[in-house]
Amino acid sequence: MSSIKTIGVIGAGQMGNGIAHVFAAAGFDVLMQDISAEFAAKGVATIAKNLQRGVDKGKMTADEKDAVLARIRTTTDLADFKAVDFAVEAATEKWEVKKQLFETLDAVCRPEVILASNTSSISITKLAAVTKRPGRFIGMHFMNPVPVMQLIEVIRGIATTDETHATVMALSKQLGKTPLVCNDSPGFISNRVLLPMLNEAIFALHEGVAGVEEIDGIMKLGMNHPMGPLTLADFIGLDTCLFILNVLHEGLGDPKYRPCPLLKKMVDAGWHGKKSGKGFYDYSGEKPVPSV
Ligand code: NAD
Repeated sequence: MSSIKTIGVIGAGQMGNGIAHVFAAAGFDVLMQDISAEFAAKGVATIAKNLQRGVDKGKMTADEKDAVLARIRTTTDLADFKAVDFAVEAATEKWEVKKQLFETLDAVCRPEVILASNTSSISITKLAAVTKRPGRFIGMHFMNPVPVMQLIEVIRGIATTDETHATVMALSKQLGKTPLVCNDSPGFISNRVLLPMLNEAIFALHEGVAGVEEIDGIMKLGMNHPMGPLTLADFIGLDTCLFILNVLHEGLGDPKYRPCPLLKKMVDAGWHGKKSGKGFYDYSGEKPVPSV
């Protein structure tokens, strides 16, 4: 554990820059890689903006912010990962992209280095199998936004060793996070439990059981959820929700995971939720209004 000093993070997007942020804030040196220097620089700019928010709120000093930023370096060349002691991948959610990345990382990183993936839906066992170190391969599923959310869902592939698991649990705690472990299975725990609830809310809307605001209001006020399921689906992205439901449906082979036809129709229409300006709510005005 104490031998882990430099962390390699692949991907400087939404999740990658958040992961780099929390490792650097915990005192690790971070090397963040993306396919272009521009993407990497954008990731660092986001980290600086988020750290500044902490300074403005009096949670850290300007000097502390600068010290965190000084621990983060960027590269576009994975060959530089020969120097890292631990690697976390947070690149685009595509099998071909991750397969190629892990083949390269396996060739570049020292044999004792653990490789982790932040994938939301791809099998950890299958990713581990493209490397020659499946025992030192694990899922480290951070939640969005990474600096704010407490949980790290740690996923053991079929070959993940107890030593790898113990190292990642300890490392997660060093970040001030709470790691909870599960075995590799479609959707892990978080998405396997969350997505059927969101899908059921969409079915209820589709069947005319209640309107958008009533469904969200009932779940928010009645269950003490911070936001209603349709609002949450809009935040996650309806395309992402459909993709994960398909992973559950195909991976577990149970019809209870079939995506609601209304969700499919909305994704076909380009209504991808908040990021596209329209989902179950229309976000073009001052405050969101139901759109279906
Ligand atoms: P994103 O699109 O914001 O970022 C992905 C980054 O990966 C981009 O900057 C892209 O340029 C880079 N990239 C693509 N191919 C690459 C390659 N070959 N080498 C290096 N970098 C490459 O996506 P994101 O939301 O940050 O998601 C990243 C991963 O995290 C995915 O596996 C996703 O499933 C997972 N995840 C996302 C969330 C979420 O809420 N967004 C939550 C948990 C896990």
